[in-house]
Amino acid sequence: SKVCILCKNLFFNIKKIILNIIYKIQFYEFNTFCVGIKIPSDIIKIEDEIRTKYEITSGDSLKSFFNKILCRIISKRTGKKVDFYNPDLKIIYDMKNDKIVIEPSSIYVYGRYIKNKRGIRQTREYCDYCRGSGCSECNYTGYSKEPSIEGYILPVFKEKFNAEDSILHASGREDIDVITINTGRPFVVEVRRPLKRNVELKQIEDEINKKANGDILVKNLQFVNRNVMKKIKVLSKYEEKTYLLKVKFERPVTKQTLDFIVSQLTNRVISQRTPTRVLYRRKDMVRYKMVYSVEYKQIDKNIVEFTIKCQGGLYVKELAHGDNNRTNPSIASLANMNVEVLSLDVISISPELEKKLNLS
Ligand SMILES: [Zn+2]
Ligand SMILES: [Zn+2]
Repeated sequence: SKVCILCKNLFFNIKKIILNIIYKIQFYEFNTFCVGIKIPSDIIKIEDEIRTKYEITSGDSLKSFFNKILCRIISKRTGKKVDFYNPDLKIIYDMKNDKIVIEPSSIYVYGRYIKNKRGIRQTREYCDYCRGSGCSECNYTGYSKEPSIEGYILPVFKEKFNAEDSILHASGREDIDVITINTGRPFVVEVRRPLKRNVELKQIEDEINKKANGDILVKNLQFVNRNVMKKIKVLSKYEEKTYLLKVKFERPVTKQTLDFIVSQLTNRVISQRTPTRVLYRRKDMVRYKMVYSVEYKQIDKNIVEFTIKCQGGLYVKELAHGDNNRTNPSIASLANMNVEVLSLDVISISPELEKKLNLS
């Protein structure tokens, strides 16, 4: 039998290829798809040579012709639409290895979380016993049983979308001993390789909130595109955040001193070298961050509550105690005495963010 030098009889196989594709995509929920074809370079070379030799300038290439046929037939068989820009499913046919690869695109879900209880970290830690591979200690999850924002949120997404993995992209982070209330913190969950796409987000919200029993709360969940994830990461460095900071001064503090601190910190650029406590994971460098406004309420002779509105990325605990002058100015340096942080609450993060990103 003769084998075509160009397509290696690809078109005789097309029925089989389509059947295989239809079989493979039945496991995925999707509304749109596109087809990509990997053609070996030697075939593209032969095609080019033929085109040059016979001066062919019009007509589809082998690749685009084959692509069109596959798209048309798969669309007809499944009733799904072709979308080359933002498809739910990428169907890739590798001609050389006669292999079909299905790539479901990630799903992105925006929301905000509120953290009502101290002692919850943002990031999941790996299980101490198995370091992530899964063992009986961690119920084969690979993660520590210590409560975390990721630990409450991500498994529910993974399960509901029947996905390979889910990743939290939050607009900044709070320390384990800091709570985030009122507006909560914006985040996007990236759901990787989902089998399901038509999921009720309200169900996810309810399940997370029930499981967390008030310790954390998610709200405002909505489907977004990939750009929103990128944007909240960039914006978190600039967006305005408001903190409630309770501190204890070394000695009783006067109203004059407190007024002086407010006047010196209002609309002030703070020079902040990477805090000593995060040096192990962040590069040692100086960052410049704005404090926009400061208000205070004196609770006791040496205990004061500050409401601080500042630029995202400012380390507020260091703004209080100064971190051995690595943060300058600080409440401690302005008061000329040691300051101890009693508690820190994030009370507002970018309240206008949804409007800026055209979300609901
Ligand atoms: Zn051929
Ligand atoms: Zn384990």
